[in-house]
Amino acid sequence: DKWIERSIRYPDISKEDLILRKDYWISSVACFLVIISLTLYFWIANPEFKILLTYGFFLTFIFLTYIVAGFIIHHNLKWLMFTNQVLIIISTFICILKLGGIPYSGGLIFVGFFVVLFSLDFHHTRNSIILFFIYIITLISAGVLHPYLTAPPEMTNSANIFLFVVNLIWISAFSFLFLLNFISQRVEIEHKEAVRLKECDEAKTKLYINITHEFRTPLTVILGMADLIRTKPKKWLKKGTHKIENNSKILLNLVNQILDLSKLQAGEMRVNKVQGDVVLYIRYLIELFHSMADEKGITLKYSPEPDHFLMDYDPEKLMHIISNLVSNAIKYTLPGGKVEVISKAVFNDISKFEIRVKDNGIGILKDQLPYIFDRFYRVESDHNHTTGEPGSGLGLALTLELTKLLEGKIHVESIYGKETEFIVSLPVTNNATLKEPAELSDIESNVSVFTHIYNKKSDLKKTSKQKNKPSLLIVEDSNDVIEYLHALLKPNYHVQVAFNGKEGWEKSLQLLPDIILTDIMMPEMDGIELLDKIKNDMRTSHIPVVILTAKADIASRLTGLERGADAYLAKPFHKKELKVQLKRLIKLRKKLQERYANIEYFKVSPDKNSKIEDSFIGKIREFMLTNLEEEINIKSLCIEVAMSKTQLYRKFNLLTDKTLFEYLQSLRLHHAKELLMTSNINVSEAAYQTGFKNISHFSKVFTKEFGVNPSKIKEQSLLS
Ligand code: ADP
Repeated sequence: DKWIERSIRYPDISKEDLILRKDYWISSVACFLVIISLTLYFWIANPEFKILLTYGFFLTFIFLTYIVAGFIIHHNLKWLMFTNQVLIIISTFICILKLGGIPYSGGLIFVGFFVVLFSLDFHHTRNSIILFFIYIITLISAGVLHPYLTAPPEMTNSANIFLFVVNLIWISAFSFLFLLNFISQRVEIEHKEAVRLKECDEAKTKLYINITHEFRTPLTVILGMADLIRTKPKKWLKKGTHKIENNSKILLNLVNQILDLSKLQAGEMRVNKVQGDVVLYIRYLIELFHSMADEKGITLKYSPEPDHFLMDYDPEKLMHIISNLVSNAIKYTLPGGKVEVISKAVFNDISKFEIRVKDNGIGILKDQLPYIFDRFYRVESDHNHTTGEPGSGLGLALTLELTKLLEGKIHVESIYGKETEFIVSLPVTNNATLKEPAELSDIESNVSVFTHIYNKKSDLKKTSKQKNKPSLLIVEDSNDVIEYLHALLKPNYHVQVAFNGKEGWEKSLQLLPDIILTDIMMPEMDGIELLDKIKNDMRTSHIPVVILTAKADIASRLTGLERGADAYLAKPFHKKELKVQLKRLIKLRKKLQERYANIEYFKVSPDKNSKIEDSFIGKIREFMLTNLEEEINIKSLCIEVAMSKTQLYRKFNLLTDKTLFEYLQSLRLHHAKELLMTSNINVSEAAYQTGFKNISHFSKVFTKEFGVNPSKIKEQSLLS
């Protein structure tokens, strides 16, 4: 198969044409072999049957021409195929006439029909119709001419029957094979189509999820800020409107990018070139990114060569290309880094203008490079190397399309963890009308949608720990969302903030908050990994986690809930729902406290979610019970549960609402009570055996715990 394909293909042949050419070539070979065998057989067995021999050799010649032509003529051979088919029908007709008409044709009358049937495989309806008409005309003519025809003497009855059978066998065999091939091709096409449709559908769903995802975070901020302005206009009017404006611009940029991309791909985007100093224009553009770079502590430099260069350029498209590349370079470079834009006029056979945007940022992995120009492609978050910048994965797709529109080229070189360089090269022409570079303010308003994207960390005022308020840790990378959540939840919670998953994990360990509210898509460590860590670590497993995310599809929800999230809210969330969920979870903890604080009765719960907590309390109980008479050794208890002293105290307190010592005392008292009731020992012995040194203190706390003093209990047990 491969050998045939290689031998008969020609440059630029489409896949379908290659299949057809191959089909026809193989059938020509098969026909050639069958016909030449039959003819040779006749030559030996019946050499005087001249008509049939001539016809046989003519047909083999026809097939041979195609077989040879397929090898040596490297372009379309459809015309030869059609000519051959016509020649076969006509030569068969002549042969039938010579043999004495249809009744003496030895079944050759079906050859024409087979040719018409076979031509259907080539999807050339007009040719098939022509062949069909030629065939019908030959049939009618043979019928009309029949009275004037005489059969040659060698066409005996038995020869006719023999020929009829032989011809019908090979014609029906070929027709059957042809139909089989035709049907299996259909089935394959239908299967391929179904797969394609399914892929298309999946791609669409992914696209929708991605688009809605990108819309959710800015919408959360806009809705949230509007709400804050309504409730506290004095405090939030200025800041809130500013944030609404910024986030609306993010949305606008997103919508524009999506529309531009579809326009570009539908070929509806026009190029509007002007002639001017392109270097000056780029200088203006870069100027506008300085504040964004400064804010992040990045040096941004533009080095043109030469200093002025006159050429045709499309200001709007160039603005988009450069803004995308420069804002990406700033976004994906860590503070202290460097971004350099270099422009160069290159004069070779064709003059080109090259723009290089180079940064010494996080870089891109080699295997991810081929995909970064894809729509919605964002490099998977890597734990060491992300800056946590927001983005949609549309920018580079748009940049690529725009560069293509300007008949330019773009490519990227990158060393992971070290540097990235995007190189755009544009053809140089000088045909458009001369124009001064656009007004600066004009560009500024367009570029502003790119420059504000940088996610500046907020400096939320440190709130001192308020008593009685549960503590809440927010883990979220969007600063605007943090600010809104902070404003929303501050009245009821002692709010702490972490800007990424890693920081979230560190703070969870350090603060052991009452509840955690986390986003999913975050740099350094995503929300799901954070959730896994929290839920599988004995120090933190008791903390309820609420996931608050832009990923609202059912699969993401299920992943979150499966991994043990206590609640899952999609952005933009309803503030009441969030508050209710938080309150509900805090309340649930109270129930848990009642269960764990019960000294007399402790049983492992069948609920899998509380497995870690059960084992924690179980371990502590066990430790206390085996060391009842002695002073409790906190150090060894810490080792037993693998926690620091503070973590142990805090977790224990959160779970039981008791301090370790209160719990231990209760445990001792319960044990003492049991001893008094079930054995013969007296009060002081019971006190000593359960670790109390001072009898009057024992009596006092015992009475407080059970409402009766220990000697009374002893008396009662003796009486009963
Ligand atoms: P985004 O909105 O996510 O920035 P882009 O299409 O502009 O979308 O970029 C696609 C991906 O390519 C980005 O998510 C980022 O991972 C990677 N990328 C783009 N520019 C750079 C760069 N200068 N350095 C490192 N990675 C980059």
